[in-house]
Amino acid sequence: MLKVEALRSRYGRIEVLHGIDLDVARGEIVAIVGANGAGKTTLLHCLSGLQPASAGSIRLDDEPIDAVPAHRRVAKGLAQSPEGRQIFTSLSVEENLRLGAFLHSDHKVEDDLSRAFSLFPILKEKRNLSAGGLSGGQQQMLAIARALMSRPRCLLLDEPSMGLAPILVGQVFETVKELRALGVTVLLVEQNAFGALKIADRGYVLETGRVTMSGPARDLIADPRIREAYLGI
Ligand code: ATP
Repeated sequence: MLKVEALRSRYGRIEVLHGIDLDVARGEIVAIVGANGAGKTTLLHCLSGLQPASAGSIRLDDEPIDAVPAHRRVAKGLAQSPEGRQIFTSLSVEENLRLGAFLHSDHKVEDDLSRAFSLFPILKEKRNLSAGGLSGGQQQMLAIARALMSRPRCLLLDEPSMGLAPILVGQVFETVKELRALGVTVLLVEQNAFGALKIADRGYVLETGRVTMSGPARDLIADPRIREAYLGI
């Protein structure tokens, strides 16, 4: 579904992605793990179109999307739930969700809203309250639900477990698994390598802008180098 080849990206004169190769098949959860500053967010931003690539290519269903602006990538089925949630705190929960459906004006938006509420019942309960009043975990749910409102085929999730209490981290990862069951393909960026690899089909390890390891998630979890560097085991 998504194929990235020799992707490079830079901030000014400083290159931070040095030729990334990566692919995501339909129906997979793929995790990108790596330390702070490895380039995970930059990579996701290149995929969603928020950050320009300086070389390489990105294809979605075999179609090059390098020159496609971010909002058109959403229309093609690629949606990002950003790091740090970035919800609209002064708007209500429901208003945030409806903004996620900015591409659609049809009656299906109501179906999408119902789907979001059945995935996240707490958001239904709080639909009329201001999003700024939600707890961190609920805001994370809202950010994911908002991205789902665009009916993505491939969802890009940036650090969904960041800043959450351990019990909520488990819930967020369970939700990601439910999304796969609903047919959404997920590319997940995480510093919580263990949590991400446990639910992923495959994983990539990113170190200072390069992929240093990749493979089935269970092989990565079992690899002594990963265990020592990222899993603290
Ligand atoms: P984190 O988990 O902290 O978000 P990350 O793996 O997502 O880390 P990036 O945020 O992609 O890493 O950062 C990769 C490198 O690019 C880092 O060295 C970072 O300092 C640098 N960088 C990120 N954003 C900018 C920017 N807007 N301008 C200049 N340098 C940046």
